[in-house]
Amino acid sequence: MNDIYNNITAVYGDAPPEEPARQLYFIEKCRSIVEKEEKRLGRKLKKCVCTFGCQMNAHDSEKIEGMLEEMGFADSKSEENADFIIYNTCCVRENAENKVYGNLGMLKHLKKSNPELKIALCGCMMQQESVINTIKEKYSYVDLVFGTHNLYKLPELLFSCLSTGKNTFEILQEHGKIVEDLPSVRHFRYKASVNIMYGCDNFCSYCIVPYVRGRERSRRPEDILNEIKALADDGVLEVCLLGQNVNSYGKGLDCDINFAKLLRMVNDIPKIRRIRFMTSHPKDLSDELIFAMRDCEKVCPHIHLPFQAGNNDILKKMNRKYTKEDYIALTDKLKSHIPEIAITTDIMVGFPGEYDVEDTLDIIRRVRFSGAFTFIYSKRTGTPAAVMENQVEPAVVKKNFNRVLETLNPIIYEINKEKTGKTYKVLAEDYSDHDPGLLTGRLEDNTLIHFKGSGNSIGKITNVKVTDCKTFYVLGEEEV
Ligand code: SF4
Repeated sequence: MNDIYNNITAVYGDAPPEEPARQLYFIEKCRSIVEKEEKRLGRKLKKCVCTFGCQMNAHDSEKIEGMLEEMGFADSKSEENADFIIYNTCCVRENAENKVYGNLGMLKHLKKSNPELKIALCGCMMQQESVINTIKEKYSYVDLVFGTHNLYKLPELLFSCLSTGKNTFEILQEHGKIVEDLPSVRHFRYKASVNIMYGCDNFCSYCIVPYVRGRERSRRPEDILNEIKALADDGVLEVCLLGQNVNSYGKGLDCDINFAKLLRMVNDIPKIRRIRFMTSHPKDLSDELIFAMRDCEKVCPHIHLPFQAGNNDILKKMNRKYTKEDYIALTDKLKSHIPEIAITTDIMVGFPGEYDVEDTLDIIRRVRFSGAFTFIYSKRTGTPAAVMENQVEPAVVKKNFNRVLETLNPIIYEINKEKTGKTYKVLAEDYSDHDPGLLTGRLEDNTLIHFKGSGNSIGKITNVKVTDCKTFYVLGEEEV
C-alpha cells in the first residue's frame, strides 16, 4: 500500500484543525487509499481487530472497528486473511503482555508471506517506554503504534503509515480533550457500553492503570445522554455506563453533576429498559448513589464492587482507602436498601506480604458474592508494589488462591440454585454460542442464562423460568 497518495503535503495542508472533523477528513483519505488498493488487487481489503483486557478496551475496539469500517475495510475472521491487523493491548497483568509478544512473533511469518500486510499496536501496553523500546528493537516489522491518549487519531496516523510506507509511532504522555462523535460499531444489537469517564486518580499500589490511562476526565452529561438517546432510537434496550471508577464521575466538570444524578437522568430516557454500570470503587460509593439505585426502576439490582483483599494491613499497602469493616458495612447498607441486589467483586491473591487469606475468606462468606473475577497478583514495573519487600512465593500464592476458589464457588452455586423454579425477566440477546438450540441472555441481576425459547424473543425482555443451575450460569425455559 506504499506511496499511493502522491501529494501528502497538500493533504495535511487541507486537513481541518478541529476534531472530530480532522479525523473524519482522514477517514476519507484512507478510504481512497483502500479503494485504490482494492482495485489493484481485485478484492476487498480486510481488517482484524484483536482485543486484550477489560471492558473498556473492548469498547475502545468498537471505536477502532467503526473507524476502520468507515475507511472501507471488511471484516476478517482470522489474522491469516487480514490486510490490516491491530492489537488493542492490556498491561494490567504480565501474562496479557506476554500473549501480545507471543502473537507478534507469529505475525512476523504472516508479514514475510505478505509484505503488504500492515500491523498496528495500541492500548495500555503502548504507554510504557520499555514496551516501545522492545518493539523498536525486536519487532521492527510493526508499522503503526499509538497509545491510549490518541486512539481517536487512528485515521490520521494510519493515513501517514499507508501514504508514506514508513513506520509511524505516536505515544502521548498527557491526555488531551475528549473527542466525541467518531464512528463506532456495536458488537451487540440490543445492549451497548457507553464511556462516561476515562482514567483513574486512585493509584492503588499494584495497578498500572493511572500511569497508562491518565487522570480522571468525565464526559459532559449532555454528550452521554445524546449518545444513549441515539442508541435507544437504534433499538438498544440496555446500556452499561463504563469508567474505571464511575462513582467519581463528574469531578472537574463545570456543572452540577455526579454519578447519582447522571443515573437518574439516564433512567428518564424513554425506550431504555435497563441500566448497568461498572466499575465502582468502595471508597466513593455514596448514600446518594445507593438511593439513586434504589429509586430508579431501570437500574439493574447488581453492583460490581471490587474488594481485592480482606486484611486491613494489606488493604492499606494496596492504598485502597477502606478497611474490611468498611467494606462489609457498605455491602450491608446496599442489601438493606436494595434487598434483591447481586454483588460481584474482584479478588487479588498474593499481594506482597499476603501470606494468608483468612480475612479475604471471611469477607467472601459474609457478603456472599454472586460472582467474582479472581486474580493472582502480577508485579507491574513502575508501581509502588513492584518494589515492596515480602513478595510471596508462588507455591503459597497458589495454595491461597485455591482456598479462595474453594470458598467462593460453592456460594455462587448456592445463590444460583436458589433461583431454580423461579421466573425472571431476561433480555434475550442472541442464540447461544455453545448450543444454537438455546437462547442466551442476562437476568436483571446480571446472571447469565441459556434457555429454551422462541427466536422471535431475541431483542425483547421476556419471562424465563430457571430450571437448572451451574456455578457460572443458569438454564431455563421461556414462559409463553
Ligand atoms: S481504582 Fe485502583 S485498581 Fe481500579 S483502575 Fe484505579 S488504580 Fe487501578
